Amino acid sequence: MLKVLKFGGTSMADATQYRKIRDIVRSDPARRVVVVSAAGKRFSEDNKITDLLYLCYAHMRYGVSFDSIFDMICERHRSIAAQLELKCNIDAELEALREQMLNGITREELVSRGEYLSAILMAEYLGFPFVDAKDWLFFHFDGTVDQEKSYAKLREIVGTDGCAVIPGFYGLMPDGKIRTLTRGGSDITGALAAAALDADVYENWTDVSGILMADPRIVENPKPIERATYSELRQLSYSGAQVLHEMTVFPVREKGIPLNIRNTNEPDHPGTLVSEEFKESKHPQRFITGIAGKTDFSIVTISKKGMAGAVGTLRSIVEIFEDHTVPICYTPSGIDCVSLVCPSEKLTPHLYSVTEDLRREIKPDNIKVVDHISIIAVVGRKMAYRAGTSGKIFAALGEQGINIRMISQGPDELNILVGVDSKDYAQTVRVLYNAFVK
Ligand code: ASP
Repeated sequence: MLKVLKFGGTSMADATQYRKIRDIVRSDPARRVVVVSAAGKRFSEDNKITDLLYLCYAHMRYGVSFDSIFDMICERHRSIAAQLELKCNIDAELEALREQMLNGITREELVSRGEYLSAILMAEYLGFPFVDAKDWLFFHFDGTVDQEKSYAKLREIVGTDGCAVIPGFYGLMPDGKIRTLTRGGSDITGALAAAALDADVYENWTDVSGILMADPRIVENPKPIERATYSELRQLSYSGAQVLHEMTVFPVREKGIPLNIRNTNEPDHPGTLVSEEFKESKHPQRFITGIAGKTDFSIVTISKKGMAGAVGTLRSIVEIFEDHTVPICYTPSGIDCVSLVCPSEKLTPHLYSVTEDLRREIKPDNIKVVDHISIIAVVGRKMAYRAGTSGKIFAALGEQGINIRMISQGPDELNILVGVDSKDYAQTVRVLYNAFVK
């Protein structure tokens, strides 16, 4: 049995967090491979080490002294090492880095050093070997990960029952240079390590007890989601939930490895388990998995008599949006009319040319544009088995006097989308949460 664990920035922020991690790792012998982020914030006004490294680079570029920022980076790592009584020579590591910065270092290599330093410290603290990401995570020249080569190399290094602490966020280019993944990229490193080693589970440890059923800034103390499928994770993140982006976990999804999102500060909480599918209980307690939403959409509604029976009109409409590089997020349609829902910030700069082209090419009877729309998605794999979900949505919102501007159900019956005026957004989320969850 192998569990690959990834700890995010807040879990790596100070010595207290390191102690929690050691307890978590020691509590289960299957927890043998640990991927770490750079130290994150200890409190809300604190700095993330990665941000400080980006700042150092900016100072270097403009020939301004980076000493005071670099001292903050040194201080954080020295204090973790001192408090945990680690023997590794962290001062020598920091001095070598300062030297490199004075002699020229690439931006990507510099910002990757937060993960590198975290992993050096954590490896000693756990008594696991340090396995540098540059020794196994290889990129192609186009910046995509060479999965085959990387997986084979990590398997060779770790073996079937080895342990390792691995820095997240970076790997090696074919020309020998360090390259970083996107921001938050340690999640990808963790997923790649889990996939490479055919782990039984990928545990992603953060500072919330799993994915929440609704935005905690809107709903007070929303319940965590116990289980979700990868498709639901996709729907929730697309619809606006602040969750792990499903693209970051594609390597584990590809291999059918379950993902468990856990809280370092509440290690006994089971968190959220995400997997391809679940054996559902006959009488599930809840029919929805979560509610997510985004504001600032515009709806362009095009009506033309006879459009429903015509061939090619929809293609022509979509092409006009494409020509102006305006993304279309949803396309609810009626008879002889179709709506295109787009992010306002992408549509507004092109609005006149888009409507002009639509008038010329489509010759519609009417084009209506409505701004300040929010789209809320009610997501749930179990909705497909149950009549009345949309009825409940209408009833709950109607009772509160909230006007539904748009409604659409995905053909896979995994979600129901509701569009409302943005002024009603927060209230809509709360009403739906209370109707389905409480
Ligand atoms: N430290 C990097 C960042 O702040 C990567 C990560 O934490 O996943 O984006």
